[in-house]
Parts: sequence; structure tokens; C-alpha cells
Amino acid sequence: MHTLNDAAYSGRIDLHCHSTASDGILSPAQLVSRAKSQGVTLLALTDHDTVAGLAEARLTGRDLGVGILPGIEFSTRWGKHPVHVVGLNIDTGAPALQRAIELRGRLRRQRAEEIAGRLEKRGFAGALEGARALAGDSVLGRPHFARWLVQAGHVEDSAQAFKRYLGAGKAGDVKVDWPPLEDTVATIRAAGGQAVLAHPLKYGLTRTRLRGLLSAFAACGGRAVELLCGRQNPVQTRDLQRLVASLAEEDGAPLYASLGSDFHQPEQPWRELGSVHLPAGVEPVWKLWQTSRQ
Ligand SMILES: [Zn+2]
Ligand SMILES: [Zn+2]
Repeated sequence: MHTLNDAAYSGRIDLHCHSTASDGILSPAQLVSRAKSQGVTLLALTDHDTVAGLAEARLTGRDLGVGILPGIEFSTRWGKHPVHVVGLNIDTGAPALQRAIELRGRLRRQRAEEIAGRLEKRGFAGALEGARALAGDSVLGRPHFARWLVQAGHVEDSAQAFKRYLGAGKAGDVKVDWPPLEDTVATIRAAGGQAVLAHPLKYGLTRTRLRGLLSAFAACGGRAVELLCGRQNPVQTRDLQRLVASLAEEDGAPLYASLGSDFHQPEQPWRELGSVHLPAGVEPVWKLWQTSRQ
């Protein structure tokens, strides 16, 4: 499935980032080049609900000597709560994975049409065509509507587009009924990959609810959790590390530790490629496939 040698583990490791295949700014080739310049030796490309950027990333990775781990970031829901699950080391041709990607493509298209309809009602004619043109082959999402609103002169920048029209509670905030967590984990497993709960501290959950999420995730076959995602308060990281350790003791379901920058674009130094490091005393997620390889 993957052909990583030990050199891939000798430098910085980043297991969560985005390219133009979803809502990132850099093409997969540019992304891998940037990762190389940041000292990254192992990079998982984890675009939202697509693996379309992986072939290009692999080619550049081969040229530059950066190990590329096939990944994806699936949108899913725990109960009614939207959460993200990263699949690492996946077989991108697996039928279950392809079906899950197609389903999310349909849901995203429906959402895009709904967003466009709402924006047009507010007088922004041509929103759908405009955003589609900007998205090209990428998965159409709110960032493309934001860019279109900027380009059409309706707002000054993307931040303003989200604040006024696309962010939480605004016209373009269309909820999607994503497939449930259990199904998503099952899909990743069926594709031979490891399911990783993405950025657990970014869901606004209380500690008790977060514990519930981690427990449910491990119970349905989730194997790891992003202990670090982008720049994070070290106190929160320690707290999360303790929570994961206590779960492992009480439920007997150890979750391995993953990490990533969640890089989207160069102007965000708080989530630069390769910028986060796992603390001592945790079991890194790559142990899962390094041991299975032997
Ligand atoms: Zn995410
Ligand atoms: Zn992400």
C-alpha cells in the first residue's frame, strides 16, 4: 500500500494538510515543495472528502524525497455534531472509499446550490457559476463563495465574506447531514487505513462531551487522535494527553497520537507545514503501520 522507507521518519512529520484539491491555496506539487523546504520528510495529504491531489503529491514527493502518505479528511457527524475524521495510509482505489467520496461530493454539490440560492436571494446574482469557476476541479465549498464575493467586489476580503454571509448563523451557513461517525470509521478501515479524530479541541465540546466523543470513536474502531493540530496551547495539549491516557486505562481502548498543521495557505504561520511536534511519552500513530509492515 505505501512504500515509505525509514528516511521518511527522520525529519519533521505532518499528517494533516490541504491542497487545491479541496480548500487549500497551494497545488499538491507546491505543497510538497513547501513541506520539503520546512524540513518535512513525511507528509500526509488530507484534503476534504477527496483524494484527487494525491497522484501529483506522490510524483513531487518522489522527486524531492518527501514521503507521501495517502490520506483524506472526511466530514462526518457524531450524533448531530459535525466532526472531522482523518483517514491515514488508505488504499485510494478501495470501492468503499470511492463510494464515501462520491456521497460527500453529492452532499457538497447540494449544499453549494443551496448556498448559491440563498446568496442570489440577497441580490448576489451569478454566485454558483462564479464559485464553480474559481473551484475548477476542486471540491466546491464556502471558501470559493468567499473568494467570488471578494472578486465580485461585494466584500473586501474572505474574512468579511464569512463574517457577513457565510459564517455560523449567516445566510450561507447551510448544514449538511454528513454520514455518521461509525460509517466513516468503517469506510477508512475498509480501505485499509487508520481512522484519526481530527482537531478534537476545535469542536467547542465540554470535557465530558469530548470524553464521550473519544470513547465513541475508539469503540467503533478509531485508532488515533490528533494530539496536536496547528498551534495549540501547551496546557490544552497536556490536558488532552491526560484525557486520552485516562480513557485508555478505563475503557481499555488506547488511541495513538497523531499530529498535523492543518495547513491551508502560506500566510498562516500558526499552521505552517511541519510546525508541530508530539510530546514525549506518547505512542505515535505511525507505529500502527510500521509494526504491521514487519
Ligand atoms: Zn478539519
Ligand atoms: Zn483539515
